[in-house]
Amino acid sequence: MTAALQFLFQRLPPSLPQTQQAHAALLKCGTVPFDTRPTANLLALYAHHIRLADAAVLLRFIPRPDPFPFSALISALVSARLFSPALALFSSMLSLGFPPDPFVLPVALKACAALPSLPIGRQLHSLSLVAGISADPFINSALVHMYLKCRAVADAQLVFDRMTDKSVVTWSAMIAGCATHGRVGEALQMFKQMRTSGVQPNQITWNGLLVGFNRSGHPQETVLTMRRMHSEGFEMDEVCISSTLSAVADMESVAIGSQIHGYVIKAGLEVNSSVLSALVDSYGKCGRTEEMVRVFDEVGSVDVGSCNALIAGLSRNSRADDALKAFKEFKAQGIELNVVSWTSTVACCSQNGKDMEALELFREMQAAGVDPNAVTIPCLLPACGNIAALMQGKSAHCFSLRKGILMDVYVGSALVDMYAKCGRIKDARAIFDTMKTRNVVSWNAMIAGYAMHGKAKDAIDLFLSMKRNMQKPDSITFISLLSACSQAGLTEEGERYFIELQQEHSIIARVEHYACMVSLLGRAGRLNEAYDLIRKMQVEPDGCVWGALLSSCRVHNNVRLAEIAAEKLFQLEPENAGNYVLLSNIYAAKGMLDGVDRMRDIMKNMGVKKEPGCSWIEIKNMVHMLLAGDKSHPQMSQIAEKLEKLSVEMKRLGYHPSTDFVLQDVEEQDKEHILCGHSEKLAVALGLISTPSGTPLRVIKNLRICGDCHAAIKFISNFEGREIHVRDTNRFHHFKDGHCSCGDYW
Ligand code: ZN
Ligand code: ZN
Repeated sequence: MTAALQFLFQRLPPSLPQTQQAHAALLKCGTVPFDTRPTANLLALYAHHIRLADAAVLLRFIPRPDPFPFSALISALVSARLFSPALALFSSMLSLGFPPDPFVLPVALKACAALPSLPIGRQLHSLSLVAGISADPFINSALVHMYLKCRAVADAQLVFDRMTDKSVVTWSAMIAGCATHGRVGEALQMFKQMRTSGVQPNQITWNGLLVGFNRSGHPQETVLTMRRMHSEGFEMDEVCISSTLSAVADMESVAIGSQIHGYVIKAGLEVNSSVLSALVDSYGKCGRTEEMVRVFDEVGSVDVGSCNALIAGLSRNSRADDALKAFKEFKAQGIELNVVSWTSTVACCSQNGKDMEALELFREMQAAGVDPNAVTIPCLLPACGNIAALMQGKSAHCFSLRKGILMDVYVGSALVDMYAKCGRIKDARAIFDTMKTRNVVSWNAMIAGYAMHGKAKDAIDLFLSMKRNMQKPDSITFISLLSACSQAGLTEEGERYFIELQQEHSIIARVEHYACMVSLLGRAGRLNEAYDLIRKMQVEPDGCVWGALLSSCRVHNNVRLAEIAAEKLFQLEPENAGNYVLLSNIYAAKGMLDGVDRMRDIMKNMGVKKEPGCSWIEIKNMVHMLLAGDKSHPQMSQIAEKLEKLSVEMKRLGYHPSTDFVLQDVEEQDKEHILCGHSEKLAVALGLISTPSGTPLRVIKNLRICGDCHAAIKFISNFEGREIHVRDTNRFHHFKDGHCSCGDYW
């Protein structure tokens, strides 16, 4: 026998170079591939070293293959997690006439479980019955495992019940399966049966029960199981502790959390990365940020899991700045941050008004070579919508298309919302129409989009189609619907839906619904009815409700009710300058100048400052932020020049700036100057000088648009021949040919 062949018959498998040497030697003497046995052995060796291509080539040339090389290669494929090729090879093995045996069938079942594929699993099950090997204990445990992985608990139970010889492994798998599927009673019953049948539970059985209860959302049972396990003298390892801490976080029970934390310190487990992340996560969910940060800082070595838990915890407790800081520190420390770290930081920014930061992070993420996923995109899109970053939103759309995640219901709904907020209501609808599955969030996004664009009829049509599609509306649906009716002056429809939401859908009307109703009645001039509605409210009216009444009073110049509403508002939100300005405007319109003076004095004495106006405009893929009166934009001199020119033209054509909207003690000329500094006008001017003529402009404003800017932009749309879309806090204004879609009511 040659030296090469000797390797093949040694007990220990030879190394890969040795295998390759043997292969070369066997080729030279002509043994491979013409002798079946040595070739099959060589194939098994290649399979063992996961050299699957080499093994596959040998399999093709084996003169008379038998099941052995097939089994070897199938096992190797499964170990390499190549489940579909493993099953394909298994199927070609069967087609060559080899029956499945008790060695290869459990391997094929393992592949089914991993995929998971219930139909193939069932076929394999019938195959075992036909082949007469269905009583084999290995096959049966593999079947139980496969059915559980495929969520077919009843099938698993059937196989399990027929098994004569149940090992602790099979019992544990079955118990864990029941617990994971939320069958609490059955899991506990089986646990008892296992003991009476003489099989004692081990650590894996206990952990399976506990992990399963936690996964299926049974925190109480998880903690109880942990207590029982501990009292029976079993060790609490990292698996047990992480799951229990996660249950504690769901229960928000700081007391139990601290007890477990104490145990963790005693057992020296805090350096374990999964225990550390679970501790950080649990303190974060219980709102104990100080403890959370302390635990994290005390453990020197950190891994990406605990870093993610810290970022999520800070974000959850509205500590966005700290979360962003922590993220940057981790990056600087060279910790290999993953898609979860990036995604939760993007989410943290977009949920806390840091939209520009969210977009920047998303760019950095891609530059760092981290692929966004179906969770990242819905976290990013609200930021695009908030500041109308249409190009960036579109690129996220393209990305979803390429990655095949466009059909994800969360991605789709977020895209609908983004396009609507960026002024592209038709694109929003096109996405909505192609969505294969829709949930209440998707419908609400589309209805809210129509409401924002003042398209009340479309909002109502979609609402009717929502009901035809058996989608139950929720309280948010009605907020959009009522706001659409109120903006469009559809008083009767609004009143009908207000009754419908309470009577047909048993939704308790919230302050937001009342605020819409007050606007609706107010717009129709029914101010006394609006006031009556507020007095009859089941919930305490808030600033939005009184604010709606005050705004309506401004339109109809009703001083009596305006004073009542303003009085409430001054108590509820003394810092909100808009309320003083509104009341002052009403006094001014009625010629009650002492009232105007009083308002100005109050504002001066209280030091009330207007929230700085801020607008965004996207130009060539780049979002520009403009602050009222801010001189820092690099093109400010050109912007000012443009506004100056426009203002000359406006005056020449008989337009006079209204100074009603400036409540400051300044000279007339300065007032005009301050109006020039309003952020929406700066943004429009920047758009005019930076884009070719005729290009539509899209501006977002953080406050309600003021009357002067509204009039000025109407003029600009006509004079410059541009479509200008301005989204303020309330709605969209589409300016075209000197008119606005809101019909001057907002
Ligand atoms: Zn303005
Ligand atoms: Zn308008």
